[in-house]
Amino acid sequence: MTDTILIMRFETRAIHAGGEPDEATGAIAPPIHLSTTYERMAGGETPRGYGYIREANPTQTRLEAALASIDGGEAALAFASGVAAGAAILQSLPRGAHVVLPSDSYYGFRAMAFDFFEKWGLTYDLVETDDLRSVGQAVRETTRIVWAESPSNPLMTIADLPGIAELTRAHGALFVVDGTFATPALQRPLELGADLVLHSTTKYLGGHSDVQGGSLAFRRRDAFFEAVLNTRKVLGAVASPFNSWLVLRGIRSLASRMRVHCANAGQVAAFLAAHPSVRVVHYPGLPSHPGHAIAARQMSGFGGTLSFEIRGSRSDAIAIVERARLFIRATSLGGVESLIEHRASSEGPGSTTPPSLIRLSVGLEHPQDLIDDLTQAME
Ligand SMILES: *Cc1c(COP(=O)(O)O)cnc(C)c1O
Repeated sequence: MTDTILIMRFETRAIHAGGEPDEATGAIAPPIHLSTTYERMAGGETPRGYGYIREANPTQTRLEAALASIDGGEAALAFASGVAAGAAILQSLPRGAHVVLPSDSYYGFRAMAFDFFEKWGLTYDLVETDDLRSVGQAVRETTRIVWAESPSNPLMTIADLPGIAELTRAHGALFVVDGTFATPALQRPLELGADLVLHSTTKYLGGHSDVQGGSLAFRRRDAFFEAVLNTRKVLGAVASPFNSWLVLRGIRSLASRMRVHCANAGQVAAFLAAHPSVRVVHYPGLPSHPGHAIAARQMSGFGGTLSFEIRGSRSDAIAIVERARLFIRATSLGGVESLIEHRASSEGPGSTTPPSLIRLSVGLEHPQDLIDDLTQAME
């Protein structure tokens, strides 16, 4: 089964990887192994491969098989959250390492740079990763990681992943892509030259706004993989068995959900782009988006998240969010229900997000109901 799965198409792998019926009972739905500890030999050996929950557990092993398969990596690791996955990469670097980080990206990683890099002995530069030349200029001899997030949060910028991969490889650094917004259903960075892919599985992979998790898929099961595995084991940012199970279940329907997310977001984006109160829509599916051509080359769909800036002030934007009835006012993205947020308010002090920007996570409702809600909210 495992060998044939490697050559199967994405939708099929997403449903079957890590899904072998339970050996003990034949159960089709995987068991959730809550045990924290496993029986050993008298000399401490662990003949069935499991010893203590922080190192590995069978439910997490299934999830990691699925994560590696859907991203096309040799190995994958599951974490307690998306930021824990990112932190484990950074905590596995030697002191003195330099990191190139995107200036538009998930705010938590920039917060990590501001508050922790100095303690960890790391230096960094913030770069507009949708501009290849800026990335090239930022890379130095000590650069160990070039990080891109594509599409990025919240401006939905697109990084040229094969271009950055080539540049990073020429400098002997590792290329990490945060692919949370696209998911492996729409974009597989390892196939485009990246070394590691990160997902906040809290978002589309979980898909139902009921589980937190993070994942890393590795192009090679190499020394850096072992270093990150050791970081997770020693520092403890592991996924719980139940959370592993929920993310695994989410992956089963990922391909189908993403098709509807993309179709709905495309319709909402077109509606907003034609609305007189909207100054700009940030959605890579629109031909007017500066990254559209690159996105069309490296993604098979444009995702379910978008943002837009209105012709008006911060308080006008907040008033639109206030009037939404079907879109729920909440942060995060990737669930079946549509969410709306005034992003600068969610990010708080230090946010560089434009004050008139509203972010939408477009869910799986009927698209006309979503457009009707935005129509009345923007009247
Ligand atoms: C949410 C998010 C993260 C952080 O993930 P958590 O699971 O909340 O820790 C990282 N990157 C992106 C793009 C995200 O949207």
